[in-house]
Amino acid sequence: MNCINPATALNIGQITTDTEFSIQNKINALRIGQPVWAAIPLTERISILQQFAKLLQTHIQEAAAVLTSEVGKPLQQAVNEINGACARIDWLTNNAPKALQEEWMVETGGTREKIVYEPLGIVCNISAWNYPYLVGTNVFVPALLAGNAVLYKPSELSSLTGQIIEKYLHEAGVPENVFQIVLGDKAVGELLLQADVDGYFFTGSYKTGKYIYEQVSKKMKPCGLELGGKDPLYITEDITDIATVAANTADGVFYNNGQSCCSVERIYVHEKVYDAYVAAFVTEVKSYNIGDPLAANTYIGPLTRKEQPAFLAAQVADALQKGATVLCGGKIMDRTGNYFEPTVLVNTTHQMDLMKEESFGPIIGIMKVADDAAAIALMNDTDYGLTAGVYCNNETRAANIQAQLNAGTVYLNCCDRVSAALPWSGRKNSGFGSTLSYVGIRTFTQPKAYHLRS
Ligand code: NAD
Repeated sequence: MNCINPATALNIGQITTDTEFSIQNKINALRIGQPVWAAIPLTERISILQQFAKLLQTHIQEAAAVLTSEVGKPLQQAVNEINGACARIDWLTNNAPKALQEEWMVETGGTREKIVYEPLGIVCNISAWNYPYLVGTNVFVPALLAGNAVLYKPSELSSLTGQIIEKYLHEAGVPENVFQIVLGDKAVGELLLQADVDGYFFTGSYKTGKYIYEQVSKKMKPCGLELGGKDPLYITEDITDIATVAANTADGVFYNNGQSCCSVERIYVHEKVYDAYVAAFVTEVKSYNIGDPLAANTYIGPLTRKEQPAFLAAQVADALQKGATVLCGGKIMDRTGNYFEPTVLVNTTHQMDLMKEESFGPIIGIMKVADDAAAIALMNDTDYGLTAGVYCNNETRAANIQAQLNAGTVYLNCCDRVSAALPWSGRKNSGFGSTLSYVGIRTFTQPKAYHLRS
């Protein structure tokens, strides 16, 4: 399989994809390695994963350059991603003992009771390309800490990064028969769905996630799904510094070229600040540097998937035909690579695909609202439920709004943010199950209940 640079359209490498035979061999090896790995003390697994983070830090520049070359994100954002993954590894390794230690529920009396968190066995992680270090870390790090073996399939669009991850995990001390990658596209993913593993954890689109869930359900195996979003923001009239709010929220839309599961995808603005906010927002977006992702001042690089510019152009055409207005951008760029202009549309409605379907690109629809009730109704008018945010200086009013939002994560005066200490989980078509936090470490375990009488 060829690896193509989305900025230059040049071939940057070739990889050998896996087959049914190679996958079976990897699983046979993992079956042998997993119980040995689970039997070593947790402290040892922790120090091995901390060593993995150290290796990523040591090689951050070269790893970031590879990531930029295959997914097109600006180099500084690639560096930020690897630093972010290391911070998550730090939290997960520091908190694994608390999440994984056995818990005594009843310590005295006739019947003592405790919970032991056992590993699942072999965890299969089918993953996405938009943040391969971050979304990979969410799964394979806690899975390994909990004593599982991992079969990790990076996206076909981030295979070279997958190879780097495997190399440094092995170099850090994770045995080869405990962590293996599987390379290839959808067809290889299909082979994994037939394989004999003990749990599936998928990060990717709703469409693929739904299909995977249907297949896995027939096998009676646990399945975690971290899927897409159509994440809304509400800007109340109760904000003070409109220029700063506009700049921060635009970053929430356009960071990583809008290719984040928690990118802001819809904005509702109170009518009293609408004009000022939209003007400041458009000024900010027009200031973005678009170009070579290797250049230090680039904020918007190419989109990763070559199909995405045409998909975004279709969303713009649909919105225009239904009455929207483009305030900036709106077109595929006439240059080599998968470039699309950063785009802002107003006069949008929920009849437009732009306001209902995940865009996953540098494009945003903005709507004016009269009050909180109207904003809440529109924010919840979605098949997704990943994140939702409010900008407001009154915390009581914001809390009242947040309580009514049907999303796994809610923000106040921030957006497009993930914390290792908090559970990351979607609702509705954004998936189910949790990664991160204590909850997300225990995701990769099965609790065993002990009833003990002397
Ligand atoms: P995708 O669904 O196209 O692919 C994801 C993975 O699934 C890839 O490894 C792919 O090879 C594999 N795959 C595709 N078809 C398959 C099949 N039939 N059987 C088995 N495997 C198959 O998604 P993508 O384009 O890689 O990622 C973008 C999507 O991921 C967006 O919707 C984004 O919102 C979502 N995402 C969600 C989160 C989250 O935490 N909720 C994080 C990152 C990305």
